[in-house]
Amino acid sequence: MPRIRDILVAPRRWALWRQGPRVVVYCLASEVVAVVLTLRPSPIAIDRRTLLILAALLVLGVVQAETGRRVERIRRRVSGSPHINMTSVWTFAGVLLLPPLLLTLLVAGLYAHLAIRSWYRLQRVPASRTVSNAAIILLSCYAAQSVLRASGVHDIRAAMTAGWTGTFATAAAGLTFFVVNALLVLPARREVGRTPAALFGSWSDNGLEIATLCLGALNALALATLPGLVVLVFPPLLLLHRTVLVKQLEVAAHRDEKTGLYNTSGWHALAERTLAATARQQGTFGILMLDLDHFKQVNDTYGHLAGDAVLRAVAQSIISAVRGRGDAVGRFGGEEFVVLLPGITQPDIGAVAERIRRTISALKVPMGHLSIKGLSVSIGIAVYPNAGTSLQRLLDAADTALYHAKATGRNKVVHVADLV
Ligand code: GH3
Ligand code: MG
Ligand code: MG
Repeated sequence: MPRIRDILVAPRRWALWRQGPRVVVYCLASEVVAVVLTLRPSPIAIDRRTLLILAALLVLGVVQAETGRRVERIRRRVSGSPHINMTSVWTFAGVLLLPPLLLTLLVAGLYAHLAIRSWYRLQRVPASRTVSNAAIILLSCYAAQSVLRASGVHDIRAAMTAGWTGTFATAAAGLTFFVVNALLVLPARREVGRTPAALFGSWSDNGLEIATLCLGALNALALATLPGLVVLVFPPLLLLHRTVLVKQLEVAAHRDEKTGLYNTSGWHALAERTLAATARQQGTFGILMLDLDHFKQVNDTYGHLAGDAVLRAVAQSIISAVRGRGDAVGRFGGEEFVVLLPGITQPDIGAVAERIRRTISALKVPMGHLSIKGLSVSIGIAVYPNAGTSLQRLLDAADTALYHAKATGRNKVVHVADLV
């Protein structure tokens, strides 16, 4: 049982202040706006019915979070991506049923519960993060409610009597919630990625959020008509949670943890599929095998952790140098990488390999106040079908070429076809 004194942290030691000025200002501003908007007048009355709905949503939300706890824990462990929780099933139902003040209490209650749960874990979520997440969800809720209001519908009961207008208004509110939430979380992050997936999360995360919002709307419909039927939302919800976990585990099983590239089995599976497809279409594809030169010296000079940072930087350089459709970069353990290049022809593959070699030569990996540079890589090339018609043959051929690159001075590209 954590003591209250451990939980309450003196304001000057709040984790919020470690976030950098831009994030701090944004978080505080969104929290103030959320509080101010809470006090707006609303056409929905606070009465016995809405209070009962609030109580029901709070209880259901806590029960769902507790039943999905184990799945959630594994999800957090396997996925480093922006994490989407499933509270919108309850908060979006709140958008369609509750006035702002009660909606605020709902969000506050659900997020307080999430925060309390995190106190019992080793890795605590700082309270400032929970508060700022809650403020952002609340603002997304209010944006969705405004869209509802602008369509002349103030809650799901009004929507039920408004025919198609009510249907579209509800759908538009859901879409607004999704879009506004995706945009509002961006400035609150300390590091913002550059790819769409890094910015807005993976397809599976977004699919989960949309499915959760759909269940939220059905949830509101049930509460407004036959409240007992709200339990029907539980089986699909728990199943949904589990499906997303399975997908994440599948991805994790094919990833190299250190670099995020494909691991040996993931890369092999993909390469076998490419080989089969290429054979059917009588096409061509290429394989690059890379090995960093004198990497042991990096470890010996700067230490193993620095070596790991170099491996990550090299992985990113290779990815940025190959952007073709279906190109796949893998790490075969240690400082050896492989690249699969579907549909590539003989002269082009040499150019790609050369581009990778040059990028790695120019790489500077920041390490404290110095930077590690002067890296180099040797690369072997093999192309289907000339160098072999099975994956193993192709890998052997690329390895032979790589061995020649090493034996003849390193920091170079050798094509197996050029060996006599
Ligand atoms: P060469 O030019 O012949 O390839 O020389 P090299 O030093 O790169 O090759 P060698 O195979 O002798 O050494 C590979 C080194 O890679 C040894 C090992 O300590 C290091 N290594 C392997 N895996 C990892 C890892 O995950 N992290 C770090 N930091 N180092 C690793
Ligand atoms: Mg090496
Ligand atoms: Mg090696």
